[in-house]
Parts: sequence; C-alpha cells; structure tokens
Amino acid sequence: MLMKEAKSGEIREEIKEISEKEGVPLEFLLKKISQGKVVVPRNLERREEVKLVGIGEGLTTKVNVNVGTSTLQTDLEMELEKARIAVEYGTDTMMDLSTGGDLDEIRRKLMEFPVPFGTVPVYQAFLEAIKKRGAGVEMTEDDLFKVIEKHFKDGVDFVTVHSGVTKETIEKAMARNERRVAGIVSRGGAIISAWMLHNEEENPLNKNYDYLLELASEYDVVLSLGDALRPGSVLDSSDYLQMAEMLEISRLVERAWEKGVQVMVEGPGHVPLDQVAPNVKLEKSLCKGAPYYLLGPLVTDIAAGYDHISSAIGAAIASAEGADLICYLTPAEHLSLPTPEEVKEGLIASKIAAHAGDIVKLGERALKKDREISEARRNLDWKRIYSLCLDPKKAKKIRERFFTGEGPCTMCGELCVYLILKDL
Ligand code: SF4
Repeated sequence: MLMKEAKSGEIREEIKEISEKEGVPLEFLLKKISQGKVVVPRNLERREEVKLVGIGEGLTTKVNVNVGTSTLQTDLEMELEKARIAVEYGTDTMMDLSTGGDLDEIRRKLMEFPVPFGTVPVYQAFLEAIKKRGAGVEMTEDDLFKVIEKHFKDGVDFVTVHSGVTKETIEKAMARNERRVAGIVSRGGAIISAWMLHNEEENPLNKNYDYLLELASEYDVVLSLGDALRPGSVLDSSDYLQMAEMLEISRLVERAWEKGVQVMVEGPGHVPLDQVAPNVKLEKSLCKGAPYYLLGPLVTDIAAGYDHISSAIGAAIASAEGADLICYLTPAEHLSLPTPEEVKEGLIASKIAAHAGDIVKLGERALKKDREISEARRNLDWKRIYSLCLDPKKAKKIRERFFTGEGPCTMCGELCVYLILKDL
C-alpha cells in the first residue's frame, strides 16, 4: 500500500515519476504521501495501465471529468466519445456516474481509458435493489458492499462513499427544524438519507467504515469521502448540515490514515464567492491537510446553460486557496446529460480555473507556459501559440476565419501593437 510504504521510506518508481513531473523534491512528495496529504489513485489490479496522477498539497490542481449514462439517456458510444475527448483534452481523472444500461459493461469499457478512474457504487446497489427487491431503499448492507467489492476487483482507482452523513446529523437537523432552499442535492446523499429514514438505521457506509477501510486497503483504492449534504444553492452554503457532515468526515479521515488508507474529501457545490476561500481553509484545517476535491463550486445559481463558467469562477478561487482536485461542470449542468462538445467546454473551463489558481498557489513553477505563450504572442508566432494553448484547433480556427496570412490578426490589423513597436 502506497501510504504505508511511504511511511516506511520506501520509494516506488511511480513516486519518482510524479516528483519529476510535478517538479517537487522526492523527499517532499514521500513525506506528503506518508502524511495522507497527497494521494495517488491507482488500484493494485490495474496499476500498470493507469496514468500516474498525484493529487494534493504542493502539486498542481487536477481536474476530473464525469461521464456516464442516465436512466433516460443510455448511449454507450456517446459516453465513450466523451471519455475519448476528455482524455484528448487532458483530464487528469475520470468518474463514471452511469445509472442507465448495463452498468458493469459500461464501467469496464470506460476503464479502458488510461486515466485514474472513479465510481459511486451506491448508485448501482440502489438500482439493483429496485429490480431485485422492488425498491431502492430495500437495498441491504450486503448488496451495497458486494457492489463496492466488485468495483474494487474491476480495478476502480477511487470511489465516492457518503460515509459522513449520519443518523444523528439528520435527526438533529430535523429537531432543529433546519430548512434548506434546495434540500439534499447529492444523488448518493439522497439515496443514503432516504435509506436511513426508511430503515431507521445508521448509514451502512459509516457503521461499517472499518470494513470499508479493509477492502480499500486490500486493493489500495482511494476513498473519496462524499459530501452527501453539500449545499445545492448559494443560499444553503456553509449551513448546519454541511458543517456537521464535515466534522464527521474529519474523524473518518483520521481513521483511514490510521489504517494506511488514502482518502480525499469532497466539497461543495454551490457557494457564494466570499465563502469559497473559507470553505477550503476549513477543510484543510479540520481534515489536517487531506486532499480536497471540489465540485466547482458554482458561485451563483442563475447561470443555467453557462454553469461551467459559474463553477470555473469558484474553482479558480478554490484552487488558489489550496483545493487539489476540481470536478468539472458542463454548460448542460442542471439541464441535461452533456454532449461530447459540452464535455470539452466544461473540461477546458475547469482547466483554465485550475491553472489560474496554480499561478497563485505555486507561483513561478506554474508560469512556464504563460511565459512561453506571451513570448510567442509578442513574436506573432502563431504555430507556437497554438501548440501551447488548451485548445489548439479552436484557436487556429478563430485566428484563420477571416485572414490566413502571417503577421497580425484581424483584431487590430496594421495597428497591431507588436508591429508598431517592433522597430523602435
Ligand atoms: S493584431 Fe491586435 S489582437 Fe492581433 S496579435 Fe496584434 S495586437 Fe494582438
């Protein structure tokens, strides 16, 4: 197991590779992994096939793309195309959130892409309980853990587990008459909360957390502690439910570390601009530096059709403050399953946000490409500009739509500042 080996000072080849790729000293990286502040999602079952990605303190901010079918739109070929585009445009990790079609087949096909791969097993367990037992809330603990183990055996590198929401939190919130504008908006959170209320039992992912740790340890899977109670409206941000869950998650992080299991902490959601930085600081403080994986966050709720922009604004601030992994959002968020083109737009928006944050967080280390592209721009070196930017095809297409010659572009033409000042 990576964390245990790092604690004993063992240096695996992959740690060397990540340290070179990230430009950080080997000892620094080894220490961060041993402390749980950096995770490397890589299931033992498919270790050789997966790109090496370090997520956490002192490293560049990574971006995750979600793909997957829904019960109303199941087209495996389209999901594979989204995955292909996501890999082409440089996603760091990918999650399958499928809920429609043959879930095992879809997962296994998507896992052929060589990036760290995550799932949310409770979706499958819940859907199978509907078929097998007539209702999702009739899912047994055994059903849930069998699906989790199946995903681990298949080689999934990280899983979202909503272990932080407890019966006590829900009961206290009800007793306090806590009200939310948007309620519970995490799909997994809604499933687990409904299951607890229906069965009047503790969350199985919390009650059996030690068993979960044993399984994760066996396959060296990273547990991503899901924020079941994340705010789904900026009006619900930083409320009692969100904070109560975060407190419980901070305990779960320590329990995982005691067993040498790598964990990340998932974060909101919908957060007003001025609360983004405090949210990141709070997680880093409460969870003692565990990597923070944020969904956006969206900084306003009015951007339907443009939620990739609303979330990129939040993600840039979060990344500058120390968020480690950003889950992308597409223009289709809250409206529809995205198209492949929307996946690309969402990914690029998140990559811009992550990099903008890295310029603040990592300084000179993150500025190499900005320096190079600025120099290329000064020299009107279009080929170089295309090769350095996030979407070379789009940049070239726009630049050449009215004029394909050398020199300035059609924005200023002969009044291009680089020409005016060139000879002086
Ligand atoms: S023409 Fe204007 S926009 Fe185009 S490269 Fe020159 S200064 Fe920049």
